[in-house]
Order: sequence, then structure tokens, then C-alpha cells
Amino acid sequence: MPFEESFLREAIRLSREHMEAGDGGPFAAVIVKDGNIISKGWNCVTSQNDPTAHGEVEAIRKACKTQKTFTLEGCEIYSSCEPCPMCLSTIYWARLDALYFAGSQSDAADAGFDDRFLYEEVSKDWNVRTLETEQHLQTEAQNVFNSWKNKPDRTPY
Ligand SMILES: [Zn+2]
Repeated sequence: MPFEESFLREAIRLSREHMEAGDGGPFAAVIVKDGNIISKGWNCVTSQNDPTAHGEVEAIRKACKTQKTFTLEGCEIYSSCEPCPMCLSTIYWARLDALYFAGSQSDAADAGFDDRFLYEEVSKDWNVRTLETEQHLQTEAQNVFNSWKNKPDRTPY
């Protein structure tokens, strides 16, 4: 579906409302299906003690729960801000049709939410990231993948 300004306004409104209520940072998102909002999410990282509780992830979780599905094909997400790498990845995993956003990465950075380093880290090989990372027991993990490939009743996604 094409961009619809009122949905993005709603995401921005929610970002203000829940920021002012003390739920978390000033970020929110809504999921739209067939021209209707099917879920609303807002940042509640600090109130829920959940570092993954970003507006987009919250909206996606709620939409999947109410739609009883793990894919949101046929839906669009409207976010008050350009998504961070975690949310952007989640949007891809959820197979959303489109993303519409308002604030930019640099607007968020100006307000103290700088996720530029995450974009840089994600694009690096694991052995040169700032996160101390080691790989062990690869063969044992590969055995589990082989079992998955041979599992007759698996649900691919
Ligand atoms: Zn995010």
C-alpha cells in the first residue's frame, strides 16, 4: 500500500505520548494491513528493563501475536524514526512489505541515541568487531543443522 501520512503521524504521536509517560525513549511504530492499524508499539526499554523493547520490535511482536503468524507480508510499518540495525533486521525477518519513517539516524544521534557504530559493527567480520568473539565446536553445531535439514515436519521460514 502507498504511504499514508496519518499513520506516520500516529507513530510520532505515540512516540511523544509514551516518552512523556516515562515508558522509555521517544520512539514508536505502527503496523498497517489493508489500510488499517493492526498494532502499535513504543519504546519501553527502561520501564520494562528490556533492551530489545524498541518501538518497531514491540509493534511487530504484537502484530504477529494477534495475527497468529510469524510473517507480516502484506503489511507496512510506520516508524517515528529510521530503525536501528536490530529493528531493521527484524523488519526483514518479519517480511514486511514497506517501511515508512520520519526522523533520521542523525536526528536520533543528536538526541543521544547514536546507533551508527552498530551499523559499522554489523558490516565487519566477527573477528574484527569490538565485541570479544570466539568460535568453538562448529562441527557439533553443524550436526544440528543437518538434523534440521532432514526433519520432515520442519516449518521453514
Ligand atoms: Zn531499534
